[in-house]
Amino acid sequence: MNHECDLCHGKLTPTLTTYTQWYEGRLIVIERVPALVCEQCGEVYYAPDIVERIQSLIWSDAEPVRTIETPVYELK
Ligand SMILES: [Zn+2]
Repeated sequence: MNHECDLCHGKLTPTLTTYTQWYEGRLIVIERVPALVCEQCGEVYYAPDIVERIQSLIWSDAEPVRTIETPVYELK
């Protein structure tokens, strides 16, 4: 994996992120996901093995560590 942003050529810094994805009508939140984040534009890059682990976790139907309530709004 490169250490330069594909979009702006900014410097990428390893960090832990919170990954969110809709799956079967529910919003799935995965905390503490390692990623590279561009210092300049904020673009987030995940290594292929991390993406694989995220997907298998989402598909595994595993028990979540906790469940949160999320407010939903409409822009009027
Ligand atoms: Zn960038």
